[in-house]
Amino acid sequence: MPGTIAEADARRSRWHGTKFQAQKLGAQAAVRWESESMPEQIVKQRSRGFICVNAHPAGCARNVERQISHVRSSMPSRPSTRLRNVLVLGASTGYGLSTRIATGWGLGCRTLGVFFEKPPAGRRTASAGYYNCVALHQAAERDGLWARSVNGDAFSDEIKQEVAQVIEQSMGKVDLVVYSLASPKRTNPRTGVTHTSSLKAIGSPFTGKTVDLSGGTVGTASVEAATQAEIDETVAVMGGEDWRWWVEGLADNGLLAQGAQTLAYSYYGPALTWPIYKDGTIGAAKQDLKATADSLNARLEQEVGGAAWVAVNKAVVTQASAAIPVVPLYVSLLFQVMKAKGVHEGCIEQMTRLVRDHLAAERGPRCDADGLIRLDDLEMRADVQEEVAGLWPMVETDNLAELADFAGFRRDFNNLFGFDVDGVDYGLPVETEVFLP
Ligand code: NAD
Repeated sequence: MPGTIAEADARRSRWHGTKFQAQKLGAQAAVRWESESMPEQIVKQRSRGFICVNAHPAGCARNVERQISHVRSSMPSRPSTRLRNVLVLGASTGYGLSTRIATGWGLGCRTLGVFFEKPPAGRRTASAGYYNCVALHQAAERDGLWARSVNGDAFSDEIKQEVAQVIEQSMGKVDLVVYSLASPKRTNPRTGVTHTSSLKAIGSPFTGKTVDLSGGTVGTASVEAATQAEIDETVAVMGGEDWRWWVEGLADNGLLAQGAQTLAYSYYGPALTWPIYKDGTIGAAKQDLKATADSLNARLEQEVGGAAWVAVNKAVVTQASAAIPVVPLYVSLLFQVMKAKGVHEGCIEQMTRLVRDHLAAERGPRCDADGLIRLDDLEMRADVQEEVAGLWPMVETDNLAELADFAGFRRDFNNLFGFDVDGVDYGLPVETEVFLP
């Protein structure tokens, strides 16, 4: 029988007690799966609209292992690098998780991950990001890699302080701070105001082609033109302010190593997505992120001989990107074209390239004329974009399966939650009450 929430809490506190003892003894953070007396259950995917409301721990663990294998095969010998201690903000899913895996398994870095994820409670599964991180810790322990995680609101002062303490006590100083948060809301700890981002056009309303994720129907989505207040709110959530506060806080506390670098992620995309992305409210936030990178760069250069970058990544299926109108249809066409050309990439392929070819390269990151690291180079290749642009006006509900890789999009989406993953027997009961150290 599944345990109650109170029983789960009791088990959690037993675990925390064990970890505290381990820390007191100076032992490295260790992950234990308290499997004795834990209930197992068969987990079937449950969706509400196109949102998946549960997650499969075994599927999530497989996803993490697949990413680790990719890094190991792409970087068989670890390049020598100055990077030793890495802080990843938004480390449980998407680009942040892959960055953590690429720096950990590719370079042997000690990684501290911050994220905001739901633990399991009784029969309710944890969020996918939580299971990803449990699996990451288990793999790190197995592979002799140092890893620590902090689960809480990265926008808050409390979590910033907790992270600073972990760095001070267990890492010394950090060499790389990666900012990969994606969130619809942010409470500013200095004003107490909660800001909400919106996905809107700027200037005039926009109607564009899109696909309904649950039914696979191609139709149109309309978004209003944002008010100035909505633009400001989106910048407050997804712009650079919180990134700046993180990096300045670490610098003020002497927790940045000599030569420390920081990095945040952005997207550019083709003209057909610009009204909703680059030229929309989210694009305004990304402009603010770039301006933040420039000012952080000046400070880091002067104080620690370091640098700040924005990396422009490829469009992939993540919980954040699936929610943007137009993008799922564009991504389905893009996958079709890139797979046919043998240049398809997901988060881990991108982040492996980022780490191997830019961050660990002796000459440092290679940037475009605007000072951006371009990991979207394959997506933006002229032949790829010409083909996608040619398919765009033709794609309709009837030919979606033929012209676009909508099946691949759906599969990647299910994979985000640990479902539809190769090699997982979904008919078997699985332990869902597994906890982070
Ligand atoms: P994601 O939804 O997969 O991951 C978001 C991460 O942020 C998770 O780890 C989540 O736990 C964490 N998070 C959210 N709110 C938090 C909070 N309050 N406190 C602590 N952690 C919190 O997102 P993603 O798609 O990987 O996006 C990461 C970055 O990459 C974003 O800046 C996004 O714009 C950028 N990007 C995404 C794409 C894409 O196609 N998905 C492409 C290019 C750039």
